[in-house]
Amino acid sequence: MTPPPTQWVILAGLLGLLVGSFLNVAILRLPADMSLVRPRSHCPRCGGTLKWYHNIPVVSWLTLRGRCAFCGERISVQYPIVELATAGIWAGSVYAFGFTPHAAQAVVMMSILLAVAITDGREYVIPDELSLGGVIAGLAMSFLPGTPTPVGSLIGVLVGGGVLWVIAVIGTKMFGEDAMGGGDIKLMAMIGAFVGWQGTLLTLFIGAILATIVFVPINLRSKKLVPFGIFLAIGGAVTFVWGEWLLDWYLRGFA
Ligand SMILES: [Zn+2]
Repeated sequence: MTPPPTQWVILAGLLGLLVGSFLNVAILRLPADMSLVRPRSHCPRCGGTLKWYHNIPVVSWLTLRGRCAFCGERISVQYPIVELATAGIWAGSVYAFGFTPHAAQAVVMMSILLAVAITDGREYVIPDELSLGGVIAGLAMSFLPGTPTPVGSLIGVLVGGGVLWVIAVIGTKMFGEDAMGGGDIKLMAMIGAFVGWQGTLLTLFIGAILATIVFVPINLRSKKLVPFGIFLAIGGAVTFVWGEWLLDWYLRGFA
């Protein structure tokens, strides 16, 4: 496939900046069950309401040097990073997949996964608005041309959620404590809606390997809870982009 015109990629990146700005609000407010629209964005310390020119993605954070315009309170670098990452997702998806339904699925799925990874990492919470909202979005978008089909998407939801649910039940029986949160189950259902049932298994495989590599060394020293959602989110994104290639390579190697 020939890459799309450069201006489309740039436009997608700019849209991604705006979406990232919205994701920042969602990341902050959804875990606390707050409204996404009210009140308007304000400084948590002095309460000053942001003017429109304090709300320009990345640019405002840079011109304000990462501080509140009213009281000088530090503004987390997480804000511009999420905005840039989302812009990268959008520009990269349009560059790689063109102006196609596949690119639309890519930006929706990966924008949600980015937000999930951060809420899970910060607060061990995966808001239903993101996971279940993603299930609905994935099922709806499966009616677009391409894979997965609506049936494939639905099976992906059932397998993704189902496998983790079984693991959770077994884990609870064996260890007497919740090994797997309900949020992870709903997250895997969402990933399944976008990548189908084979993709969910690959996602779990990648997620488990990454979680083991990163968290076993940390866990030996401190008994820190594993935000497994982060690794599932990364596994899901990798599967969306390279899943077919990986499964093909794996099956050929062992056939
Ligand atoms: Zn302030």
